[in-house]
Amino acid sequence: MIKTLAVMTSGGDSPGMNAAVRAVVRRALDRGLLVYGIYCGYDGLLRGGDLIRPLRWQDVGNVMQRGGTFLGTARCEQFRTVEGRRRAVENILERGIEALVVIGGDGSLTGALLLSNEWPEHVEKIASSRRDLQPMVERIPALRIMGLPGSIDNDLSGTDMAIGVDTALNHIVRAIDDLSSTAASHQRTFVIETMGRNCGYLALAATLATGASWMLIPECSLELHWHRRMLECLDNARKLGRGHQMVVIAEGARHPDGLRMESGEVRKLIAEKLGLEVRLTVLGHVQRGGPPSAFDRVLSARLGVAAVDLLVDQPHVLHQHMVGVIKNRVVATPLVDVIEKSREIQRLLETGDFPKARQLRGEAFATMLELVEALTAASPSKESAGQGKVVILTGGADSPGMNAALSIAARRLLDCGVAVLGSRDEFDGLVHGELTDLEWNDLAGWMGRPSSDIGTARSSQILEDFGKIAENITKFDIKGIVAIGGLDTYRHLQRFTEMRADFPELNIPVVLIPASIDNNLPGSDLCVGSDTALNNIVESVDKIRDTAGATRRAFIVETMGKECGFLAAMAALAAGADKAYLPETGIGLAELNRDVSELKESFESGNRMVIYMHNENASHHYTTDFLRRLLEEESKDEFEVRSVVLGHVQRGGSPSAFDRILAGRISAFAAASLLDLIKNGSNDVLAFGLKEGAVTSCPLSEALAQLDAPHGRPKDQWFMDLFPYIHSLAKNRPSRRGDTARS
Ligand code: ADP
Repeated sequence: MIKTLAVMTSGGDSPGMNAAVRAVVRRALDRGLLVYGIYCGYDGLLRGGDLIRPLRWQDVGNVMQRGGTFLGTARCEQFRTVEGRRRAVENILERGIEALVVIGGDGSLTGALLLSNEWPEHVEKIASSRRDLQPMVERIPALRIMGLPGSIDNDLSGTDMAIGVDTALNHIVRAIDDLSSTAASHQRTFVIETMGRNCGYLALAATLATGASWMLIPECSLELHWHRRMLECLDNARKLGRGHQMVVIAEGARHPDGLRMESGEVRKLIAEKLGLEVRLTVLGHVQRGGPPSAFDRVLSARLGVAAVDLLVDQPHVLHQHMVGVIKNRVVATPLVDVIEKSREIQRLLETGDFPKARQLRGEAFATMLELVEALTAASPSKESAGQGKVVILTGGADSPGMNAALSIAARRLLDCGVAVLGSRDEFDGLVHGELTDLEWNDLAGWMGRPSSDIGTARSSQILEDFGKIAENITKFDIKGIVAIGGLDTYRHLQRFTEMRADFPELNIPVVLIPASIDNNLPGSDLCVGSDTALNNIVESVDKIRDTAGATRRAFIVETMGKECGFLAAMAALAAGADKAYLPETGIGLAELNRDVSELKESFESGNRMVIYMHNENASHHYTTDFLRRLLEEESKDEFEVRSVVLGHVQRGGSPSAFDRILAGRISAFAAASLLDLIKNGSNDVLAFGLKEGAVTSCPLSEALAQLDAPHGRPKDQWFMDLFPYIHSLAKNRPSRRGDTARS
C-alpha cells in the first residue's frame, strides 16, 4: 500500500479546485496516508523547500467555498525541460512521495504523464549522485499519477464535466440575463464573448440556457458567407418583435479560413449592416472567479475521494489515470487516452473536420447543438397547419426551471407546426377552458424566469372535473399534453388514465417532465429545479459560515425535500457540513447521544462552528426545534445553538444553468416523442427523465412502480452512495483534527 501522496493544482485556476484538494487531503488522511501539498503548481514542485509541505486535517478547513486555489497555481516553462523535471523528481524522492494527484487541464496532465513516464531514467541519474536517496529509489520504482480534470473550458475527454465548468456557466448565464434586462430597456443588441479556449461548450450551453439569438463556436463549420445567415436571423427576429438580441461568441470561434474571429468585428458587422446599436461585452476572468457552485463542490468531492481510493485500493496498478464523471458514474481513464482524444479534437477543428470533432465532444454536446440550431431561428420552420393543439401544464409545488422546460417544449412543438396552449394552474385551465396561446418570440425570454408563469396547483379539482376536461379536449382540438411537475402531477395523471373508461376523450398521449426541487421523482436521477435549490441552500450555509469567529455556535439548518434526503445530503457534502439527518436513515437516540458528545468535544478542542443539515422530515419527533432545544440543554452555555429554517428561499430565484439545460434536454426529447405518439394515434403516458446521463422514458405505470410509495421517493437513490462522504470529509471530526497521518 502507498503511504505518501502529494496533491497540487496547476494551469488555469478553476472554481472547485479547493474543494477537490480538501477531498483528496481528508480522504488520504482518513485512509492513513501522509499528504503533501505542492504550492504554485509545477513551479513549486521544481523549487521544493517550503513549497512542498505536509497538509493537516484543519489546513483544508474553510477553503471549499473559496474560488481559485489556496495552493496556488503557476505556468512553469522550466517543467517543460528534462532538467526541470529531473529537479522535480529529486524533490519527490526526498520526501518519499509515491503518488501525485494533479488537478488541472490538459497541459498539466500532459506534464504529469511525462514525469511518470520518464521516472526510471531520472531516478537512475539521480541515484548515481545522491546515494542518500537510494532507499527511496528502491521504494518508489514508479510514480503513480492520478489526474482530476480542473478547467472551466470543458475541453477534456474522460469526463462529462470538468471541475469549474458549472460555476463558470452560471456566471455567464447570470451575466447574459443581466445584460438582457438592460438590452430590453434600450432595445439594444449585445455581443457577448465567453472563455473556453478552443472548446465551444460554455458558449453553446449558455446560448441554450438563455435563449440567446445566435451563437458562434469553434465546432460549427461556417460557410463563406456565414454572416448573411446571422444577419438575416437577427433582422427577422427584430421585425417579428424581438427588440433586443444576444449573440454569444466563444473566444475560440474561427472564420471559415481558420483565422480567429474577433468579437469586435462581429459587433461592428451587426451594427453597420443592420443599423443597430450594438454593445460588446467580453466576460473575461469573472467567469473563473467566485465561490464554486454546489455541483462543482460535489463533483470535486466525488473525484477527490475516488482518486485516493483507487491509489490505495489498487496497490499493484501503476496508475497513470484521470478520474472523471461519465453518465453520473466515476470513471478512471488512462491519461494517455484523455490527452490523445483531447488533442485529436483539436486537430480535427484545425483541419476543418467539424462533424467528427462534434462527435468526439460527446452526445450531450451534439444534442445541445442540434437544439440550439433549431431554436435560434427567428420563427418556427413550419407554419401551424391546423393539425390540432398541444397543451402544456405545470403542476405540483413550483420549481425553478419549469419555465425553461415549458419554453423549450413549446418551441420544439411550434417548430414542427403544432399550435401550443398553456393551461392555467395545472389541470384547472383545462377544466375551465383557461388556455392561452404560447408564441415563439415570447418564449425565448422565459428561460431564466423563476417558478412557473402559467401557474401550478397542487390540489386541483381534477378528481371531480374529468367531464369538463374531456369537453375542453374536444372543444380546443387537443391532441396531446406536456405535463411538467412533481409527484402530485404524476398521481393526477395516473387518475387521468384511470378515468379513460368513463371519458374516451382522455385517450390522448401525455409526456411528463420531472420537475421538483426535492428530487424525489421516479425514473430520473435528477429533477428540474433541484440544482437551483441546492445552490440556494449552499449559498445560505456559506453566509452562515461567514459568521464563524464571532462566537461559538452550532447551527441546525433545515432543508426541504419532503421524504427525500437529496437536498440535505448533497448540501451537507457541498457546504462541508458536519452531518446530515435524512429521512432515509432516520434519527435514533443512540446516534443523538453520540452527536452530542462529538459536538461538545469539537467545541472543547477549539472549534467555533458546527453545522448540521436536517431534512424537514428526517424524523417525526426529533424535529429541528427539538434538536435545537436538546443541543442547547446539553451545551451548558459553552456554546450557542441556532436553528435556521431555509423555507421557500430554496425554491426561489432564476434557475441555475444546469436546471435550464436539464429542462431543455428532457423537454426537447419529450416534445419530439409526443409528436410521434400523436402521429401514431397512441394514448401512452410516458414519464421522462435523466438516467445515467441520458434522457430516457418509460410508461407512467413503470415509473410509479419504481416509487417507494409510502415515502414518496424512488426506491433506488443513487446519491445515497455519496452519503458516507459527508462524515468522511467533515470538518470537525474530533478524531481527525490536527492529524497529519494516522499513526
Ligand atoms: P492547463 O493545465 O490548464 O492546460 P497549461 O497548458 O498552461 O494549463 O499547463 C500548465 C503547466 O503544465 C505548464 O505551465 C507546464 O508547466 C506544464 N505542461 C504543460 N504542457 C506540458 C508538456 N507538454 N510537457 C511538460 N509540461 C507541460
